[in-house]
Amino acid sequence: MLIHTDRFAEHQTPPGHPERPERAEVMDAVAARWRERGLEIVAPREATREQLARVHGTEYLRRISETAGKSSQLDPDTYTSPESHEVALLAAGAAVDAVERVMGDSHKAAVALVRPPGHHAERDRAMGFCLYNNVAVAAAHARAQGAAKVAIVDYDVHHGNGTQHIFETDPHVLYVSTHQYPYYPGTGAAEETGSGAGRGFTVNVPLEVGAVDEDYQLVFAKVVLPVLRQFEPDLIIVSAGFDAHERDPLGGMRLSTEAFAAMTLDVRAVAEDCCRGRIVSVTEGGYDLQALAASLNVVIEAHGSPASPAASWPSSGLTSQRGQHALEVVRQAHRQFWTL
Ligand SMILES: [Zn+2]
Repeated sequence: MLIHTDRFAEHQTPPGHPERPERAEVMDAVAARWRERGLEIVAPREATREQLARVHGTEYLRRISETAGKSSQLDPDTYTSPESHEVALLAAGAAVDAVERVMGDSHKAAVALVRPPGHHAERDRAMGFCLYNNVAVAAAHARAQGAAKVAIVDYDVHHGNGTQHIFETDPHVLYVSTHQYPYYPGTGAAEETGSGAGRGFTVNVPLEVGAVDEDYQLVFAKVVLPVLRQFEPDLIIVSAGFDAHERDPLGGMRLSTEAFAAMTLDVRAVAEDCCRGRIVSVTEGGYDLQALAASLNVVIEAHGSPASPAASWPSSGLTSQRGQHALEVVRQAHRQFWTL
């Protein structure tokens, strides 16, 4: 099922900004097409203050709520229009709603189409187009609803600094990220493995710019999936950013559209084995409109197919050692935590 609001075009950014409202039109069109094909589509509720306060500070929540009705700039990349605050509450609420439906077993899988994205938002700081950390709010909600362990898989081309930091001392929330590195926001080295009781539960897979389908296939097979299986989550939440697509104007990776289906099916296969198929995907970045539409379509399809077919990874025909290099540094950084 799909959680989708028709409000997110109201989150306006300055002309030329990558997080532009045309992204909302694309997501609206994708949702409309799936509605015609019979997929259940619902509108989200706003996230509550209690839900947000699990991962954001009180002072920060006050500051962000004061942007309601105003246009403001929160960091060099992050803007609000008068409606942005409400749209951001709906984005976090959509992620919460998706989790409730999947944890309540009314649905096995859900996709939340949201703007603005969330994974750069820190506990006390808006950043990188993000106001509230939608996926972190959703993971904390799942924990509050009784999930003992939640895994977050983040394949957005950027590292989810906010999500990592919010959960870095928490052994109950695993954060696994593939991302272009070095790149914005600067975090995401393999050596960042979590701290305190959370040591080992942050798994960063930094990939050099230019990585292709085969690199991602390798690190999914050798790192992402084995770590997920060893962690045995009760729910998997995916930070579904589409900016590692070869067409994306921000990211420098070369993923094909089909690779997004393959990543989803790979993760879904683990969900089938570990947690009765419970998987929630929440959109993050993705700034080429054609790639965004195509990738969203294959990801939604991959959530909804009746049985979980084995992922069939596309072949780019390109030679790259980037996946192998990433695998070596991750194995080294995590040798005491996981069998990889
Ligand atoms: Zn991104």
